[in-house]
Amino acid sequence: MRRLTAKQGNDMSKAIRIDGKAMAAELSAKITEETAALLQDHGLVPGLAVVIIGEDPASQVYVRNKKRTAEACGFHSVQHSLAEESSQEDVLALIDQLNNDESIHGILVQLPLPDQLDEQTVTQAVAPHKDVDGFHFINIGKLTSGNTADAFVPCTPAGCMVMIEQHLGKDLSGKNAVVIGRSNIVGKPMASLLLQENATVTITHSRTKDLPDVVRQADIVVAAVGRPNMVGGDWIKPGAVVIDVGINRIEVTVDGEPKSKLTGDIDYDAVCEVAAAATPVPGGVGPMTIVMLMSNTLRAARLASGLSVD
Ligand code: NAD
Repeated sequence: MRRLTAKQGNDMSKAIRIDGKAMAAELSAKITEETAALLQDHGLVPGLAVVIIGEDPASQVYVRNKKRTAEACGFHSVQHSLAEESSQEDVLALIDQLNNDESIHGILVQLPLPDQLDEQTVTQAVAPHKDVDGFHFINIGKLTSGNTADAFVPCTPAGCMVMIEQHLGKDLSGKNAVVIGRSNIVGKPMASLLLQENATVTITHSRTKDLPDVVRQADIVVAAVGRPNMVGGDWIKPGAVVIDVGINRIEVTVDGEPKSKLTGDIDYDAVCEVAAAATPVPGGVGPMTIVMLMSNTLRAARLASGLSVD
């Protein structure tokens, strides 16, 4: 853990860049080691099944990265690619088959789904003990009630917590945290995790009044909105730790040529003039999300075999 010094926390110098890519590589190496030990000591190989329905290009990239990382960690990794027009029955039948497959410990259904499929029905069909995305109501309930011993926490907020803890330590007593966005995937579980570590948490959203004023009270800001560069430097309390979950594709002009690039929800350069630490996009939350999926899958395999977990 790297605690901030008072100087780093309060002066107006450039913030520390929280390098999610490097942190993810470190965690991934640790998971790879633990996976090898699991095989040697217990003959167990964690199995991850990724289900993708349709041809959404961004989803194809995410799924490819997840599969590649799972293989690199030494997992048994399978991908099921279903046609765009698949029926709900087809998808539920596949999930049922994977729920009953002993070589599979974690199941991930890539979102968003094509329109004819009901997201809630599909995510709730995954067995809670294989729900490595943490979207099943049982896992959400365990997280919200603080009973996380055998729960799966959604990967993106779990990754954000690792980055926050690296900078501020595990106990966030006395810290104000503001989460921007109230989605079930990011905003709400993020708030639960921050609360569990004793932060004083405010969840904000599209109907929040005077949002910049609310954000200015925060020692920890997590932006999960999907609006490019929305959070300006003047929204940030000096010394805050700022986590940018947003992934937005924008058009820019480079040498007179139109190009598309990824950007987050924070105006990174402006925020870095004020914050103590901030995550870039790309290279921040994204890589951590993938590695937390691996961590959840390893955890699922251990739990399924009655082995201890952290
Ligand atoms: P979502 O659309 O489900 O939720 C967005 C939230 O932002 C909503 O709660 C809404 O109330 C709030 N919001 C919208 N406009 C606002 C405004 N003007 N002011 C304040 N709040 C506003 O999105 P999501 O699934 O939570 O994802 C949010 C962003 O994070 C997206 O850009 C998404 O691509 C990205 N994301 C990244 C990762 C990752 O691994 N890095 C994972 C999941 C999501």
